[in-house]
Amino acid sequence: MLPFIEQVSDELKEFLFIRGKEESAYYTCNALLINDILIDTGVSTTYLNKLLENYQIKRVILTHWHEDHISGSNLLQNCSFMCHSNDKSPIEDNKVMYKLYGYSHQNPPNELIRYLEKYNLKNIVISQTITDGDIITVNDNYNLRVIHTPGHTSGHCCFYEKDSKFAFLSDINMPGVGPWYGGIDSSLLDYEESLKKIKNLDIRIAVFSHYGLITDANEISDILIDALTIIQGRDEVLLSLLSEKKAFTAKELSNKQLMVKNIEVYEEALPLSEEIMIEKHFEKFLKQQLIERKDDGYILS
Ligand SMILES: [Zn+2]
Repeated sequence: MLPFIEQVSDELKEFLFIRGKEESAYYTCNALLINDILIDTGVSTTYLNKLLENYQIKRVILTHWHEDHISGSNLLQNCSFMCHSNDKSPIEDNKVMYKLYGYSHQNPPNELIRYLEKYNLKNIVISQTITDGDIITVNDNYNLRVIHTPGHTSGHCCFYEKDSKFAFLSDINMPGVGPWYGGIDSSLLDYEESLKKIKNLDIRIAVFSHYGLITDANEISDILIDALTIIQGRDEVLLSLLSEKKAFTAKELSNKQLMVKNIEVYEEALPLSEEIMIEKHFEKFLKQQLIERKDDGYILS
């Protein structure tokens, strides 16, 4: 077995965890190979080439459109690609990513162009879209159920094999970052629902795209609870900063690292995402009637 590959458990011999080359740095992500199916292609070019020499990969499932999850797709041109219909457009036309990160389609900032260039992205044709509840059969032995978990992106999907109690949870939570909903297509309300949906599953073994392979059910549960706790903490911090008199906009609060702290990749490439994430909390507070919109921002109700 190649050094970056391990079986997820002694029983699940066909479920191969592929550790991304720089798992924690967000330039690569972990993947899973089950028989002829690869979930996500961002493990690194070197690793993917080694995988291709040793395994027959025919189908690729992309959990969502983010660059670190799809970057190796061009090496798998002979495979058929699947993703949720909501995430199809930036995978098929990478320039759509600029818009989804909150920038102009025609005139994105140089730093974002440079950042995305590092991934060597190529447009990929999605031959099949997947939706919540779909079953992807593997080798007649396993049934991977698609769990649509919007929030991080609007087409973000997790995958669950009920008999094995195995789940691929992608970016449902991320070490050092926490739940991230800084894209135009992200939704905080959806994110919380998605987390609850995943928490209700009986999961014994999980692969997270950046936490790795986790084989302790309590640890998996803790990571999910942690995501909800982080969101709640961000709610509380924002509400403590708002007042009944002076109005604040998301932009005015966006330079305080209230959402995500000390992430190199984030500071360099995604200066808008903090503002977008705060805006998602404001959307939630408006719905809960905790705040009101004024001409110059938001105040507490
Ligand atoms: Zn992501």
